[in-house]
Amino acid sequence: MEKDLIRIGDIEKFSLVDMPSKIAVVVFMQGCPWRCPFCYNQSLQNPTGETDAKWGHLLHLLEHRKGMIDAVVFSGGEPLLQTGLPDAMDEVKSMGFEVGLHTGGYNPEAFAKVIDKVIWVGFDIKAPLNAEHYKRATGGIGDVEKIKQSLDMLIKSGKHFECRTTCDPRLLDIADIYTIADELSALGVKEYYIQKYRPIPSDITTQESDCNKFFKDEKMLAYLRSKFEIFDVRK
Ligand code: SF4
Repeated sequence: MEKDLIRIGDIEKFSLVDMPSKIAVVVFMQGCPWRCPFCYNQSLQNPTGETDAKWGHLLHLLEHRKGMIDAVVFSGGEPLLQTGLPDAMDEVKSMGFEVGLHTGGYNPEAFAKVIDKVIWVGFDIKAPLNAEHYKRATGGIGDVEKIKQSLDMLIKSGKHFECRTTCDPRLLDIADIYTIADELSALGVKEYYIQKYRPIPSDITTQESDCNKFFKDEKMLAYLRSKFEIFDVRK
């Protein structure tokens, strides 16, 4: 059977911040099923685009970085959208690299096919885990039951992972962060981060002070520290 095409939007050749304690190459996979209002990677949303040309370029790059790079992180877009992801991960593993994944967990069936291949996952939590809020935070598309299935699978896998939330004040308020923290800690999540929203170019109404409020609320931050073994802010 012919190998599924891999669609890559971009490649970050050297990163110290996309996978804990690893020097990584980051592969931004083309295509995402969601339309989060705060998306900074809108050029990656369209599922068509560059194909194996960039995959060949990546393999060439990795061949020349052996010994200098520890891992390849598949990011997005949404990597789980691509049926060629399991083979792509196998290929870079066979070259001696470890594999990480950034995902929103939108498709548990696709997640099940790659979870054994990765050593670490960065799992995006867009909103409190209820249907209405999750739909709003993903542009009317996300199915929260599927996200819960993916997260459950990740927790049960025993893999190293983190959850993280971008604090877009148009979608979330302080009470929502408390709700997310309660939901995640009840599920057994140990590591959580909140990330600052930087207004996308089309957002001309959100003020800097709206974005900062999550990071100035000492009571909430103390609560988050109490809920997780590891908690931090990314501003
Ligand atoms: S999951 Fe949301 S933020 Fe991430 S690429 Fe897709 S639309 Fe953008």
